[in-house]
Amino acid sequence: MAQVTDHGGGVRSVRVPIPDNPLGHTLVYVVDTDRGPVLIDTGWDDPGSWSVLAEGLAACGTSVAEIHGVVITHHHPDHHGLSGRVREASGAWIAMHAADTAIVRRTRDTRPGRWYAYMTAKLTAAGAPEEHIAPLRTPRPRTGLPGLSPALPDREIVPGELLDLPGRRLRAIWTPGHTPGHVCLHLEEQHPGRLTGNGRLFSGDHLLPEITPHIGLYEDPDDATVTDPLGDYLDSLERVGRLAPAEVLPAHQYVFPDAAARVRELLAHHESRLTDLRALLIEPLTPWQLAERMEWNRPWAQIPYASRNIAVSEAEAHLRRLVKLGRAEAVAGSDPVTYVAV
Ligand SMILES: [Zn+2]
Ligand SMILES: [Zn+2]
Repeated sequence: MAQVTDHGGGVRSVRVPIPDNPLGHTLVYVVDTDRGPVLIDTGWDDPGSWSVLAEGLAACGTSVAEIHGVVITHHHPDHHGLSGRVREASGAWIAMHAADTAIVRRTRDTRPGRWYAYMTAKLTAAGAPEEHIAPLRTPRPRTGLPGLSPALPDREIVPGELLDLPGRRLRAIWTPGHTPGHVCLHLEEQHPGRLTGNGRLFSGDHLLPEITPHIGLYEDPDDATVTDPLGDYLDSLERVGRLAPAEVLPAHQYVFPDAAARVRELLAHHESRLTDLRALLIEPLTPWQLAERMEWNRPWAQIPYASRNIAVSEAEAHLRRLVKLGRAEAVAGSDPVTYVAV
């Protein structure tokens, strides 16, 4: 049975399940327009999830065939997975920020061998032990790479511009950090329950009521730029805090009112995490060694293989921020590179 919630003012959500994932589901928002419903995100590409989406749209009094357009907050498979099927069934356009579209294009074009070579080089540079890297040298074909052929969007979301939603005012706010092209969507209309505040904000994974989104390195085999995803994320948090929406409609969990309070919590969380990590850097550590010593939701020995890659990426994002703030530096001549507090 599809679970549909009416948020008022021509906005509903369908809880689309994410199979075998503790997150549980993606909230796919259905926004009425003069030309038919527009979806914000589509959910995981799985037959069961597809049926739930179709049932949910029926419960909203519409159908997949009626969808006018699809606005994607970011390229992750729990958000963009079903976009291709929706477009096939309806002829809807798909819109995404150019930085995430570039990742989609690369995922479609990169042969798995190239990807494994990139991951091997990256993990070696981060100081990963040989037993962690070895499986990448003899990978089973096409394992652990979800969404190998995600749909290529046909429209670009331009930050600051209104999207093409006839009869509605939906503006794109660029919020890089979780991914380089993550966007929040600001519905610049009075709250239907007359809550005070500046419209409503579809926040994707940028702002969630009880989850701290993963911030790791942007993964791009073709780009050698030293990016600062955590710095981007913290700036993006302040941007949506200043917007002061009456209500936040996130892509997971539940709707909540006070964006500014949640932004303050997340800023404080990252500040204390950076302080803790700097304290660990009294001795020089590789990113891998730092990840082993950081606090996670379980002991390092119990963290599965793929999650360790994510953890190291998160450690590196924090190291980049500390270096940029002048609170840590790379030890000259170290290989793999180690970092120490300054
Ligand atoms: Zn995500
Ligand atoms: Zn997500």
